[in-house]
Amino acid sequence: MITRRTFIQKTSVTAASIPFIPKLIPQFDSIAQSASGEVLRVVLMGLGSYANRVAKAMETCTRAKLVGVISGTPSKIEEWKKQYNLPEKNCYTYENYSEIESNDDIDAVYIITPNSLHCEQTLKVAQAGKHVICEKPMAINAKEARQMVDACKMAGVQLLIGYRMHFEPKTLEAIHLRSSGQLGTPLFFQGLSGFRIGDPKQWRLNKKLAGGGAMMDIGIYSINGARYMLGEEPIWVTAQETKTDPIKFKEGVDETIQFQMGFASGAVASCLSTYSMNDLDRFYLNGTNGFVEMKPSTGYGPIQGRSHLGSLTAAVVTHQTVQMDAMAGIILQNETPLVPVDGNEGLKDMIIIDAVYEAVKTNKKILLPELNAI
Ligand code: NAD
Repeated sequence: MITRRTFIQKTSVTAASIPFIPKLIPQFDSIAQSASGEVLRVVLMGLGSYANRVAKAMETCTRAKLVGVISGTPSKIEEWKKQYNLPEKNCYTYENYSEIESNDDIDAVYIITPNSLHCEQTLKVAQAGKHVICEKPMAINAKEARQMVDACKMAGVQLLIGYRMHFEPKTLEAIHLRSSGQLGTPLFFQGLSGFRIGDPKQWRLNKKLAGGGAMMDIGIYSINGARYMLGEEPIWVTAQETKTDPIKFKEGVDETIQFQMGFASGAVASCLSTYSMNDLDRFYLNGTNGFVEMKPSTGYGPIQGRSHLGSLTAAVVTHQTVQMDAMAGIILQNETPLVPVDGNEGLKDMIIIDAVYEAVKTNKKILLPELNAI
């Protein structure tokens, strides 16, 4: 059984060095309680590279368990059945997965397919009465995201978005520095999110499947990060696009977008989203009295960071293990995460992405009046 104490010991960080962690990550306190209680039984849909990472990480979850799969490739289903000891009755295809409705051994479906499939698949899973965990970006625009939020509400199921950083200890430590006033008034955020994309034939470079380009895939981390690091919603966006390779990055697939966001407090964010540069993974938040920097800031880790007070010291974890245990707590025990991961949180990012694309197209400042009302 993993208690908070053994968890901290395992990660070689003393409780004294992270006195605020138990408060920041309430789900760590309840790991021990839930080990003997309910476990979230999860089916993964789409057995690609990220699903493999999630499945591996779930092997050490104490509150969530992989119980089945949905895939279009029979050979993958056979491999996964063997590797994860999955019963045949919990394995489905894209043609028959509505049948999960009558399977009482499944609580939730985690959708890890190309972006443009998320909306339709979420609607089908919700209709089958199962909770939905959906990868980011939750959809390819705000219209679809709203449809997903409404459908899950109507069906009485939860919709959570795979925002793993919302449970990552150093991220929460950085947020705590800001929320406890140690940075003074936060005034500037810089988010750099990018990597150099390879194979030009992959779905990430296909507008129909990806819904866009780097902004949908990696730029979303800077959008989401600006919001949780500053603790505020933006009220306007401006953006400029640069394309150096129009053959690889076709119409509607953005290569590099630089964008700015303004906040009611007077804070500003300056961000870069790109598919053309490696080692671009850095968050920097500056206030009137200090700063906090994370580099890497959203990669698989280990996340590292420092502030004007010294290095960030919170535990190193496997992001997806902590995420899935925390999501089990949210779905089964109504726990509230410090930074939300619900459908509305994903919808806000989609509204901002729509605005970024609109700003690129019109070269105008796009106002975001509705974010605070969601
Ligand atoms: P991938 O290409 O490795 O896997 C996608 C899977 O979807 C494949 O198994 C593929 O067979 C399946 N699929 C089903 N229908 C398909 C269709 N019509 N066309 C193409 N593939 C189809 O991609 P991935 O890297 O696993 O990404 C999947 C999702 O996960 C994306 O939405 C991505 O943004 C997200 N993701 C999130 C993180 C994170 O850290 N949260 C990391 C990577 C990917």
